[in-house]
Amino acid sequence: MATGWAGDGAVQQQIDDSIEDAIKRARAQLPSGASLTHCEECGVEIPLARQQAVPGVRLCVACQAERDQDATLNLYNRRGSKDSQLR
Ligand SMILES: [Zn+2]
Repeated sequence: MATGWAGDGAVQQQIDDSIEDAIKRARAQLPSGASLTHCEECGVEIPLARQQAVPGVRLCVACQAERDQDATLNLYNRRGSKDSQLR
């Protein structure tokens, strides 16, 4: 059954194509632009490993952690004020 084998191959080719499309789409969603060599917040040098691990990185580890913490606090504050307005 030579035609049966050919059919299997075609299906596998379609799977490969859709995986490639998914990778291309995922890459397009990554932050664009080059990584900064120095933190835009405090000016400390960003390690090359971090620049390569985080494409388009703009902050050092310490400033990124601080910013993440601020975002979390703001989230709680907004929730808190919303609740108090409702009550
Ligand atoms: Zn910094």
